[in-house]
Amino acid sequence: MSTRRKFLEKITATSVALPLLYSPVNLFAASEEPCEGPVLKVAIMGLGSYGTRVAEAMQACKRAKLVGVISGTPSKIKKWQSKYGIPEKNCYNYENFDAIKDNADIDAVYVITPNGLHKDQSIRVAKAGKHVICEKPMGVNAQEGQEMVDACKAANVKLLIGYRMHFEPKTVAVIKMRKEGKFGDVKFFQGQSGFTIGDPNQWRLDKELSGGGAMMDIGIYSINGARYMLGEEPIWVTAQETKTNPEKFKEGIDETIQFQMGFPSGAVANCLSTYNMNHLDRFFMTGSKGFVEMKPSTGYGPIEGKTHEGPLTQPHMTHQTLQMDGMAAIIYNGTAPIVPVDGEEGVKDMKIIDAIFKAAKTGDKVML
Ligand code: NAD
Repeated sequence: MSTRRKFLEKITATSVALPLLYSPVNLFAASEEPCEGPVLKVAIMGLGSYGTRVAEAMQACKRAKLVGVISGTPSKIKKWQSKYGIPEKNCYNYENFDAIKDNADIDAVYVITPNGLHKDQSIRVAKAGKHVICEKPMGVNAQEGQEMVDACKAANVKLLIGYRMHFEPKTVAVIKMRKEGKFGDVKFFQGQSGFTIGDPNQWRLDKELSGGGAMMDIGIYSINGARYMLGEEPIWVTAQETKTNPEKFKEGIDETIQFQMGFPSGAVANCLSTYNMNHLDRFFMTGSKGFVEMKPSTGYGPIEGKTHEGPLTQPHMTHQTLQMDGMAAIIYNGTAPIVPVDGEEGVKDMKIIDAIFKAAKTGDKVML
């Protein structure tokens, strides 16, 4: 098991003691997404660690259903077919999946492969006329992200990015509090995202497949989090990189980057992204009237936290279940989530990542 999975699962462990929270009655208790409407029929591309988690979570969905798979490993396809009752005609590999265009039983493809493959695979899915759900980071730079946005527009399909936190009840509650002015003038955000990565031979440490190191994988949570917590877009970034193990973290693979972002209101964010430290999954934000601290803040949950008003008590629900039901509502009902999960939202994060890499390399303050 990868170190990342272990890290994210550790904080999920306590949630299994709360089976009632997964009951249909509670499923939408903290969400305002409509339950009514067509079911989104989804094929998952990439049957790895996270694809497996999404498939499991989808079993509890009301509006989304796993109906197909795209994989290069026939034995995995067989296993998934028997586990999830997937018919042979909905199984594809990486060579033949363009034929999905003739399959009326599949509405959307969820791309859950290594980052460096997302752009080409997503564009092929769009050209096959299917909606694209793509994992974060959407590509390996902003240009790739924009190409994906353009291709999906041209094909008249939706492009949604797997930003599961935008559906998470405690996160949504905090964003609502900020919108209601409960924190007053927000001045400062702190985001810490990291874990110690294991196997040096995994794709996450291969520049071609990952596009970068910790920043692409886990630092992106602090970038996206700063934006949804503060409710503003940064106008500048500065960044400093530390590399203690150049053998493991080769050229183009960042081990640890500290970065700062400045926002139009004058608020600043100070963040840490790392593949070489544990126990880093924390958001803190303070304003003239109050504060919020979330720890864990973006793991699989339960998310925990408190504000100046007291503990956050919204019930834990499996993030990916909420996300997939929420995405069906976006696609079929035009329901807007509290923070967008569309391709343009993904491009905003990619532009910031590009700027952080530039700032870390040059030492300059990079304007956005
Ligand atoms: P993984 O290594 O467990 O799975 C990747 C899958 O892609 C495997 O099934 C592998 O066989 C397949 N694959 C296809 N072509 C490949 C190639 N050329 N090289 C290597 N593998 C190839 O990785 P993962 O943890 O499932 O991550 C997949 C994506 O999901 C990444 O983009 C990652 O950032 C994202 N992710 C998101 C979250 C989240 O919480 N939103 C969590 C974990 C991973």
